[in-house]
Amino acid sequence: MKRIGITFTSTNYENYIRWFSSDVLGDDLELVELSFVHNNIQDIYSCDAFVITGGVDIHPFIYQGNSSYANMPGAFELDRDHFESMVYKYARTHRLPVLGICRGLQLINAVEGGKLIQDLGEAGNAVHRKTTEDKRHEVFIKGDTLLRQVVGLEQGEVNSAHHQCIDPTALAPSLRVSALSGDQTIEAVEYAYPANKGFLLCVQWHPERMTDKDSSPLSLNIQQSFLEQVRTTTMNKFSVINPATEVSIATLNEDDSSSLADKYQLLKTGQVAWAKLSLSDRVSILNRFAELLLENIETLAKTLSDEVGKPLQQSRNEVNGARARIAWLTAHAATYLSDETMSEANGMVEKISYEPLGVVCNISAWNYPYLVGTNVFVPALLAGNAVLYKPSEFSSLTGLHIGSLLKEAGVPETVFQLGLGGAATGEALLQLPFDGYFFTGSYKTGKYIYDRVAAKMVPCQCELGGKDPLYISDDIADVKAVAAGTADGAFYNNGQSCCSVERIYVHEKIYDLFVDEFVKEVRSWKIGAPHEEGVYIGPLTRKSQLDFLSSQVNDATSKGAKILTGGKSIPGTGYYFEPTVLVDVNHTMSIMKEESFGPVIGIMKVQNDEEAIALMNDTDYGLTAGIYSSDKHRADVILQKVDAGTVYWNCCDRVSAALPWSGRKHSGFGATLSHVGLRAFTNPKAYHLRG
Ligand code: NAD
Repeated sequence: MKRIGITFTSTNYENYIRWFSSDVLGDDLELVELSFVHNNIQDIYSCDAFVITGGVDIHPFIYQGNSSYANMPGAFELDRDHFESMVYKYARTHRLPVLGICRGLQLINAVEGGKLIQDLGEAGNAVHRKTTEDKRHEVFIKGDTLLRQVVGLEQGEVNSAHHQCIDPTALAPSLRVSALSGDQTIEAVEYAYPANKGFLLCVQWHPERMTDKDSSPLSLNIQQSFLEQVRTTTMNKFSVINPATEVSIATLNEDDSSSLADKYQLLKTGQVAWAKLSLSDRVSILNRFAELLLENIETLAKTLSDEVGKPLQQSRNEVNGARARIAWLTAHAATYLSDETMSEANGMVEKISYEPLGVVCNISAWNYPYLVGTNVFVPALLAGNAVLYKPSEFSSLTGLHIGSLLKEAGVPETVFQLGLGGAATGEALLQLPFDGYFFTGSYKTGKYIYDRVAAKMVPCQCELGGKDPLYISDDIADVKAVAAGTADGAFYNNGQSCCSVERIYVHEKIYDLFVDEFVKEVRSWKIGAPHEEGVYIGPLTRKSQLDFLSSQVNDATSKGAKILTGGKSIPGTGYYFEPTVLVDVNHTMSIMKEESFGPVIGIMKVQNDEEAIALMNDTDYGLTAGIYSSDKHRADVILQKVDAGTVYWNCCDRVSAALPWSGRKHSGFGATLSHVGLRAFTNPKAYHLRG
């Protein structure tokens, strides 16, 4: 089913709906109301074509007109102007068919850089402006235009209901006139250079309500050729599936190499001005973004839970976590991004300035889209970069929220753009000449991206997976509390955290008690739909993970492991897997070596600290590692010996904005967060200044 987005207008909207009747649309087309009132941006990204409708005058701000003029309306709808501008730009980037009607034509001219005659004056209004009924007059259609081809007429009669029109001295350079009325008012425009562009017809009249709309080619042919274009346009789509219900909750258009190339070019045009803005202005904008996260937290959390299956409270926690990170980053941006004078002696000043990289690409993961996104695009923007952000295909609706809130906060569209889609979209991004690539995701994809980007000689940073170990020593005071805390570290977000505890080593002296308490804790959790009160374990985000986890469990049991609780998928609707605890595990088993990224854990008995250290380091990964012990010195000695970017004593599964977040080995390289992460998006320039 193809979707035609029609922009909502408070005047005569029903005429458009009637014009595109179910007979005309058939079984293969449907209408979608795109409403500035509801700001349903998500729907824009799912449409295959657009009708930009008539209505109240565009705000003069949009085309730099005079703030006062004859016959000015009592109120404008600036929100509508912005919303419809977004609709049109989306269509243009994706080369989708557009029909602009009356105000729609004027808006498109304004977006393309043209201006309007703000009031046609007495004579003009007498010809064009509706009184009780639409006016009627002749239009003359230029040869060799798309419109002529569509309607097959040199002239004809149309209805008319406007007092503004395109200023012929300020027609947007990308457009050309395809029809004029007798008084030379511009009656229709289309692309001046249509090659490699979508279908665009804009008319000043109202084909949807012409009295002879069923017979006049100036209505009927326009409608028919538009619909033909919709039917023949093909967009690659992907579905967003709710993992709890297995129902598709959205079908979105995928970005391809040409739309991404356009977006990249747009970002190129905006980055320099963004970098020239004062840092305090950028800080204010990002702080506003954080405020908007709070203002919209319930909507954001609901969307996140719908698309990734995270329990609602955990979704709220994530949004709040992102706000806390933004607060740290914005509070410290001036300290770490401002010029630093290193020495001033003997007439020589030595200083470092931190210049933005330029236009950077962020390919991201779904498990904590607000957190891992914030780690990258917030410091990148603070440092003066423009960002193309590709959310994971599993968290694209959240990506749309992020894009729209950043825009609302004041980040220009020339500075932040979204690229929607899966691996193919990611691949297309790798072909563009970004000034830096920042990836969060699996080792497999990260390695591939690193290989592909290497020849570009630009920074490439990878935050990848982990097989994070925890050692519980024999001197802990409260085994029950530690068991409960570490179970949370392993199973929070269904174990789908890069820093989830993935394997546990327990000193033999307390092993039995710890395992007992751990299993009790795991069995106490409520499993259920993300929106249900008190649910701790929701569905997994990806269906494929059910098979992967089963295979890890089977591999372990076939090699002698014992399941203490859980062990299999939960039958029925939704991608649920029982929280699973395995013992009698060893390092021949995948469950102790390969990232599980799910609600399963292996617990292994060790005789002493040395054995624990050796096993903790027996991994290709190096993201986090932790120890629980009452002895600080003992913990220190162990933590110094483990090869991981982050180490924990008496805590686990935590990230702090003040500390660098970085991996080693297959967990990646480079760091986000902290002063290191703020500067990761800059090129330091060394100044040697004598004088
Ligand atoms: P993934 O590697 O499957 O996908 C990550 C992103 O890469 C997605 O946006 C995806 O569309 C894109 N992609 C896939 N193939 C691509 C290609 N060929 N070219 C370009 N882009 C491509 O990972 P995921 O499933 O989204 O995330 C889970 C993984 O991320 C886990 O391993 C987890 O540990 C890791 N992770 C790490 C951190 C960290 O901070 N270290 C944080 C979150 C997640």
